[in-house]
Amino acid sequence: MEDGLTGLANRRQFDVTLDTEFGRAMRDASTLALILLDVDRFKQYNDIYGHTAGDECLQKICRTIANVAARRPRDLAARYGGEELAVLLPGTDVEAAALLAERIRAAVRALEIEHAGATDGFVTLSAGVDALRPEAGAAQPKELVRGADKALYVAKSGGRNRVCTNAEPKA
Ligand code: GH3
Ligand code: MG
Ligand code: MG
Repeated sequence: MEDGLTGLANRRQFDVTLDTEFGRAMRDASTLALILLDVDRFKQYNDIYGHTAGDECLQKICRTIANVAARRPRDLAARYGGEELAVLLPGTDVEAAALLAERIRAAVRALEIEHAGATDGFVTLSAGVDALRPEAGAAQPKELVRGADKALYVAKSGGRNRVCTNAEPKA
């Protein structure tokens, strides 16, 4: 259930918890938020500094995410895959999740991990945020992931090192 490299929850735990929390949010009529984070220009980081340095960089980033993000017992920080990380936030709306994502973004930038291939010379990450209040028979867990991923894409194409939210109205 734990990712070996980073110590965060692994993808399997994320998937199981997403389903559980989605069901709970439906019963409680509460809002479930998701932050998807992706390290900027990480392929280039590996190319310049080597894979071992890349692993260490990822470990530092994930420690930072765990410190900043998992404040409530049911918050879950996970390694979604590769250099893509996720934070699942039960009982949280999109504004609060975006604030937290911004704190993570700023904290990672403040690590000042040198990256000669990055725009401002340091390792950064981009984040996409979405939240929904599931209703019976309507939204599916994967829609939350899709919404956050869409916002992440906007953050990447907007120049990276930023947080975007999925503003699309949901049923
Ligand atoms: P972008 O800013 O668009 O996200 O660019 P990127 O280079 O980060 O994106 P891309 O998906 O092309 O590359 C991801 C890289 O992350 C490639 C892969 O080798 C690296 N990576 C994924 N997981 C690990 C890991 O566990 N350790 C190391 N060292 N590198 C990893
Ligand atoms: Mg990346
Ligand atoms: Mg990626």
